[in-house]
Amino acid sequence: MDLSNICENISVNSKNHVCFAGQDVCDLARDYGTPLYLMDEERIRRNCKVYAEAVREFFGEGSMVLYASKACSFARMYSIINDEGLGTDVVSSGELFTALRVGFSAENMFFHSNNKTDDDIYYAIDNGVGHFVVDNAEELEAINRIAGEKGIKQGVLLRLTPGIDPHTYAAVATGKVDSKFGSAIETGQAEEITALAVGLENIDLEGFHCHVGSQVFDAEVYIRSTDIMLTFIKEMQDKLGYTARLLDIGGGFGVRYVEDDPYIDIREGIRQTAESMHKKAEELGIKMPVVFMEPGRSIVADAGMTVYTVGTVKRIPRYKNYVSIDGGMADNPRFALYGSKYTLALANRANDEATFECSVVGRCCESGDIIQEKVMLPDGIKRNDIIAVMTTGAYNYSMSSNYNRLGKPPIVMLNKGESYVAVRRQTLEDIMSNDVY
Ligand SMILES: *Cc1c(COP(=O)(O)O)cnc(C)c1O
Repeated sequence: MDLSNICENISVNSKNHVCFAGQDVCDLARDYGTPLYLMDEERIRRNCKVYAEAVREFFGEGSMVLYASKACSFARMYSIINDEGLGTDVVSSGELFTALRVGFSAENMFFHSNNKTDDDIYYAIDNGVGHFVVDNAEELEAINRIAGEKGIKQGVLLRLTPGIDPHTYAAVATGKVDSKFGSAIETGQAEEITALAVGLENIDLEGFHCHVGSQVFDAEVYIRSTDIMLTFIKEMQDKLGYTARLLDIGGGFGVRYVEDDPYIDIREGIRQTAESMHKKAEELGIKMPVVFMEPGRSIVADAGMTVYTVGTVKRIPRYKNYVSIDGGMADNPRFALYGSKYTLALANRANDEATFECSVVGRCCESGDIIQEKVMLPDGIKRNDIIAVMTTGAYNYSMSSNYNRLGKPPIVMLNKGESYVAVRRQTLEDIMSNDVY
């Protein structure tokens, strides 16, 4: 297969080696060791620009793109996002702390999560976080109380569930009525929490938020959810005399993991969504709210690649073959969690005919520690060969663990022919650093 079909930043050089952002992956593996996360800085910046330009053009002044930083969160990442003029979603004091440390504007931060602790709320308010995206009434009251203690009025959006199923994986569908996230419109809880928020003294209700899911390839999903949200805005205007200024329509545009995944034109998706929203707002006779979007995966996924070294190649005659690598579910738990698909290549023999079917598995003590099943790789694959896994920029490093006391891989950034370490490799000392003995 042609690897550039997955993303245009992947190629093969004259040595038959996989290249990422124009750099030889085998050279990078030799220089930095494996397992290794690579990130293409230019691709991250390009993805940011696609969103920022389309949102500005089709939604107009005041609208903004927020990077959902749970997709991949580390200091340098926040600097790049800040540079590109995006805001960010954070979901914990840890993400907030990291963003603040590199000078990210607190005003442009949106504090998410379905369960913010009192400590999180104090920490965020003390640091001037501009906006909370509030999940439920209990949390709203806690924020009101703490904002009151601090003598401020806190900007808040309410997370509502529009009750649609984006036909994506169950584990990443979040907009259905029975979701763990948000307050449902259908059950009347959305209206109740709006009425509550409008009446609270230390809350400035800026508007509403919804996020329907992930790996969405069709603007139709956004068109349906924004229809419901705009109708709800109109209803609240009529019933409560409250007009939402802001509508955050969530993230979720898909990325290509394998050749069969559809291509998506994000700019066109945003254009169609905006067109539908302008029409709907006019039809309802309401003022078009300022619109925010919050992509995570589609900013970073195709800017990432993970590189491993092969250990054992185990052939079980008449059954199956295993290729064990020096990482696994500790650095990429997505196959174990969701059965996620990935494209793999033998980086040191990129274009050799792939006739050997195998499961590529990790080194953790779990049968479920699998990166991918039914992978076709060149026959004769052996110890010390290099395997590259494509499209790993989202929900890999950010979901990594120290299971089996494996150290986390470093993140090496690639930019215009240069490379630099943005997160260093965890050492044995790092792994023991919190142990008291
Ligand atoms: C995860 C998440 C996003 C980003 O989703 P992607 O699929 O990574 O684009 C956006 N908004 C909320 C509320 C989320 O939880």
